[in-house]
Amino acid sequence: MNRQPNSGAAAGFARLDSEPFPVFAPGSVWLVGAGPGAPGLMSLLCYHALQSSDVVVYDALVNPAILDWVRPGTKLEYAGKRGGKPSAQQRDISLRLIELAQAGKRVLRLKGGDPFMFGRGGEECQHLVKAGIPFRIVPGITAGIGGLAYAGLPSTHRDTNHSVIFLTGHDASGNMPANVNWQAVATASPVIVMYMAVKNLAEIADALLAGGRDPQDPVTVISHATLPQQSVLETKLGEVRSFLAARELATPAIVVLGRIAEWRAILDWYQGALRENPLG
Ligand code: SAH
Repeated sequence: MNRQPNSGAAAGFARLDSEPFPVFAPGSVWLVGAGPGAPGLMSLLCYHALQSSDVVVYDALVNPAILDWVRPGTKLEYAGKRGGKPSAQQRDISLRLIELAQAGKRVLRLKGGDPFMFGRGGEECQHLVKAGIPFRIVPGITAGIGGLAYAGLPSTHRDTNHSVIFLTGHDASGNMPANVNWQAVATASPVIVMYMAVKNLAEIADALLAGGRDPQDPVTVISHATLPQQSVLETKLGEVRSFLAARELATPAIVVLGRIAEWRAILDWYQGALRENPLG
């Protein structure tokens, strides 16, 4: 049976105030994924958190348009790069979250995509646990799935993509991660979705080719996924070096390896009139 809307409830977002969402208790931290960019892709719990927090500590990757959804008076604190100085240290961010919570604030730690997908959410939670701060995780749509959808690429498909590997293209020091078994990864899955991979892309392509991946395998680079300035470029694994030499890739970008790229020709729904809608 179709679910009926609550009779008499106000339409739209105002309704959330009367919904039984969890209470954001003073002195607690909510680690929330804002989604890949388009505000429409945030969850209702994310919206609820924006409406009930005292302070939002946000990352560079969070679309500023999402911060417009806080209630008036909420304090916004940036935890990314400041005026050209290096990124705030991860430890400093965790300590700041603890300090704010201990001061009795409702602390919303807002991250791009999903907080546990290459987002250091786990590390921040470890610090909160140690300090005895109560916390909640609100998952978000990760760029490596939502971004692909906006480029017309289904992450899985029964005909072509029966498994997906998510990996990061750089480690804590910015180098190509040494603890990824590139030889094994190269042929393990028809789809490899790479985060933070632009800087080391030439080396990564070499490692995958050395591991036996087909040089003809398509590479799709999705920049500013889900946003009006989204761009999608395509090349082949064996041609990555010349592709990179010819252009500067816009970041943030997700790099997708695999024949999944072929779906784009028929499923590319976003880059047209729809991109004019700021909520995505
Ligand atoms: N927690 C985030 C990922 C953080 S790591 C998530 O779940 O999406 C940062 C990397 O995410 C970037 O280097 C890029 O590879 C990817 N990314 C995040 N937002 C993106 C976007 N809008 N478009 C393309 N790539 C994005």
